[in-house]
Amino acid sequence: MKAIFFSVLLFLSTVVTAQEIQFYGEAKQGGIIIGIGKNITNVQLNGANIQFDKSGVFVFGFDRDARGISKLKVRFKNKKVETFEYTLEPREYEEQSLTIAKKYVTPPKRELKKIKRESQLMKAARAKVGKLKSAFFISGFTYPVDSVDIRSVFGSQRILNGRKANIHNGLDFSAEVGDSIRAISDGIVRIAGDNFYYNGNFILLDHGQGLTSVYLHMSKIIAKDNQKVKKGEVIGLAGSTGRATGPHLHLGVQWYKKRIDPMSLFTITLPSKDGI
Ligand SMILES: [Zn+2]
Repeated sequence: MKAIFFSVLLFLSTVVTAQEIQFYGEAKQGGIIIGIGKNITNVQLNGANIQFDKSGVFVFGFDRDARGISKLKVRFKNKKVETFEYTLEPREYEEQSLTIAKKYVTPPKRELKKIKRESQLMKAARAKVGKLKSAFFISGFTYPVDSVDIRSVFGSQRILNGRKANIHNGLDFSAEVGDSIRAISDGIVRIAGDNFYYNGNFILLDHGQGLTSVYLHMSKIIAKDNQKVKKGEVIGLAGSTGRATGPHLHLGVQWYKKRIDPMSLFTITLPSKDGI
């Protein structure tokens, strides 16, 4: 069978209808694509199976530094196979210089035990991700704050105190201490972390099929471990706990370990549930 090739320079939220399948989102570095298909029996991304739920909903994402061609292969009950190709162009990322307290660049020895313990707790929480086949994210996406003012974009190369440091793997929203932080989509709380060294008070939400969001530096955690939350539900209050230069919300999104640009979610409009 001849494969069907798609040019992937799709416009934001463009809907592509290919017989029995619809796509939402954009193939770009840090982007995600949500597929809704009928009578799907298998979905593979670059040769590896990915999950889909009983409504035929699946998701996959492209890392900040993803390169080259990605191939999606979808099998249907009638044995038909459709192949889609996505060519990723490199994005340009910003460089951002910050001055932060020295203890957050090189943590003091007495804190190392705490940091190690916290990284183990995070690992354990992330180990549960991917077990949820249900596409909670089909609820769609909403901003996590009521008044949207982007303070720092996704993907920047950080220069901390004059030295090349980590990549900014999230999106920072301006916020006042006590502002409501909302779940960006339906999900389950995998960890409500209490005053972690770097993250401060934070919440990790599992939206199903490997898609997660994390909300850092809160003054107060409201949602509890294993709690199911709805899109737009208040899960905590903004603050500046952990490694933060003043009150703000750091929102991080991943598809498994791939670092996703949260902004690429907010431009996606999914059909209403009745429409599926
Ligand atoms: Zn941030």
